[in-house]
Amino acid sequence: MTCVFCKIASGELPTDFVFADDLVVAFRDIRPQAESHVLVVPKAHVESLWELEDPALAGAILGACAAVARSEGLSEGFRVITNAGAHGGQEVPHLHMHVVGGQPLGPMLTPPA
Ligand code: AMP
Ligand code: ZN
Repeated sequence: MTCVFCKIASGELPTDFVFADDLVVAFRDIRPQAESHVLVVPKAHVESLWELEDPALAGAILGACAAVARSEGLSEGFRVITNAGAHGGQEVPHLHMHVVGGQPLGPMLTPPA
């Protein structure tokens, strides 16, 4: 198994989880882009949102994003982002949602170069 997020989710790479249930784990991004920046990751290897077909897993991921936002205290607002594929700028090919907040976040998109 070479996938870094599979290793984190399985416990092979010791990581502090800010949330975990049967289907999902959440942990802090190593290169945070905001005061609070947590990744919500399914335990099962799903490459990106393009491949996500299981509605129960989709619900678990979205519910975990909400739970993380609440536990991080993001009552002033937050953003949930997933990058998918080459055009989406996805770097880690294991589905993950970025939950970011703790400060004003600015415009959602920067124009393509
Ligand atoms: P992306 O695939 O573009 O949505 O982004 C992948 C994110 O994963 C980046 O924000 C990285 O900083 C983050 N990341 C990569 N490896 C790790 C790791 N071992 N632990 C925590 N975050 C990571
Ligand atoms: Zn994986």
